[in-house]
Amino acid sequence: MVTLIRILRHTFRFPLQSALSLLMALSCASLVLVLPSITMEFIDVIIVKKRPDLIIPTALIGISAILLRQAIFTLRTYYNNSLELKLTHLIRLELYDKLQRLPVKWFDSNSSGEVMSRVANDVPATNRIIIEGVDQAIAALFQFLIVVGYMFWHSWQLTLVTLVPLPFIAILTTWWSRRSEPLWRESAEANSALNAILHDNLAGIRQIKAYTVEPQALESFDKASRKVGEKTMSVMRGQALVWPAVSFIAESGIILMVAFGAWSALHGQIQPGVVVSFLVAWGFLFDPISRINNLSQTFTRGIVSAERVFAIIDTPDEANLTDGLKPLALSGHVQFKNVSFSYSGDSPTINDLTLEAMPGQTIALVGATGAGKSTVLNLLTRFYEPTHGNIFVDGVSLAELSKEWLRDQLGYVTQESFLFNTSLRENLLLAKASAEDDEIWAALEAANAADFVRATQDGLNTLAGERGSRFSGGERQRLSIARALLKNPPLLLLDEATSALDNHTEYLVQQALENLRSDRTCFVIAHRLSTVQKADRICVLHHGKLIEQGTHLELLALKGTYVKLCEATFANNPRRNT
Ligand code: ADP
Repeated sequence: MVTLIRILRHTFRFPLQSALSLLMALSCASLVLVLPSITMEFIDVIIVKKRPDLIIPTALIGISAILLRQAIFTLRTYYNNSLELKLTHLIRLELYDKLQRLPVKWFDSNSSGEVMSRVANDVPATNRIIIEGVDQAIAALFQFLIVVGYMFWHSWQLTLVTLVPLPFIAILTTWWSRRSEPLWRESAEANSALNAILHDNLAGIRQIKAYTVEPQALESFDKASRKVGEKTMSVMRGQALVWPAVSFIAESGIILMVAFGAWSALHGQIQPGVVVSFLVAWGFLFDPISRINNLSQTFTRGIVSAERVFAIIDTPDEANLTDGLKPLALSGHVQFKNVSFSYSGDSPTINDLTLEAMPGQTIALVGATGAGKSTVLNLLTRFYEPTHGNIFVDGVSLAELSKEWLRDQLGYVTQESFLFNTSLRENLLLAKASAEDDEIWAALEAANAADFVRATQDGLNTLAGERGSRFSGGERQRLSIARALLKNPPLLLLDEATSALDNHTEYLVQQALENLRSDRTCFVIAHRLSTVQKADRICVLHHGKLIEQGTHLELLALKGTYVKLCEATFANNPRRNT
């Protein structure tokens, strides 16, 4: 009920259109009485009282009323479709807006395919509740009441007999509605799982091909797809049994009605025309009942979908996204004070970390894979919040700052330099919407990216391809450096590539990074000896703990973990020493 009220509230955003749609539905319903009335007129007046003069006027009235009904019906279909599209757009937008405001942590546990399935399938199914569920159900109920009223007016005894099947149909459809709800839920979940697999496999299609695991991928897709079929089939099976049962009860009612009508007419209690008109009206009486039976399925399915959509909409926003302090400028003084953090809540990923970066300094983070280096950067961007301790920039706790403001001050160049499948210009303008082409080219020059962009046929208008697939790893990295240069942030977070680049490309990337690092506070996950040598401070992380810190020479003198790390990481890979 709560879900239904929430959906209806969306409809009230279009009050005029909703009211018009309902009004037209009610008018259509009222006009169904034309056919039984005309039939009765033909039998009891024109035939019995021998009035041939009334044939043409009665027929004309009947045809006009039917024409009017169809005209209203056409308009109603148009209005309903337009209302449905507007509602779908509204809820889809609300859902997408919400997705952008959810914390990064939420995306760790919800797959893209699953989310896409909610946006693509569950939003339209939710709106079917309004159009088919509410609008049609109200119209059907109204039609039912009007026809029953008409019948009562002519013979209450015959009406009561006609309505005998009704309670049985009500019991059966209510039972099935309850029974099918979990089945619809399972079917929606199976659909989401299928989408998640599809999305994952398409994203990893190169890996699937490279490792020749196409048969296994096909098998997992086959399993998921089969499950969707099985889950949907269990609903359909039920429906296939319930629907004939409803029809059987309803149609047995006709025999009962005609038999009783014949008996009443024989005893002179009613005119024969009343029985025939009841027969015609019967169609209009049971049409809403059968429609309600179908609608109850749309309804049940829609409620399940709506719950899935609202579950996302009700997830709390990322805290502090827009509210919080927005200082005028940032000089780039960063302090971590006794910061601890855990992704899962058990063992800490970052353990009691205390470190300081003065404005303009470069801090190199080193350590084995999984030591927690990327996590330090994730905490600085506030993608995740520390479980203990505090991080300060320019003396202000991160928790007090607006996240949007903070992220505006940050340049974040990651290993997987993501490009959207739009033009290069649009990709670069993400960093600074107002940048002119001259400025973009200057950033590309400084990032050593201008040459290869110039060499493309369309220059800045070149499409980047999905995830930037049109460009090589080294090119993507330099484009993302250019993006950061264009943003010109006071604080820079850098993840040096571990992917093997050829000597020349690596030299170009490194030079670009040098240009980017100058004059700003920089936290860099270092993989190259040259980076750590130049860093103002090197922080050695081990299982989330800061175990050594100092300059390259200081740490060499310590002869501790850093020296071992240098030997393992840099000595074996002379190319990294450049
Ligand atoms: P590094 O950058 O030093 O290689 P990370 O900071 O990426 O290390 O990871 C530190 C630890 O946290 C690893 O054990 C990793 O598996 C875990 N981890 C990283 N990201 C997540 C995440 N989103 N959810 C759960 N655990 C994570």
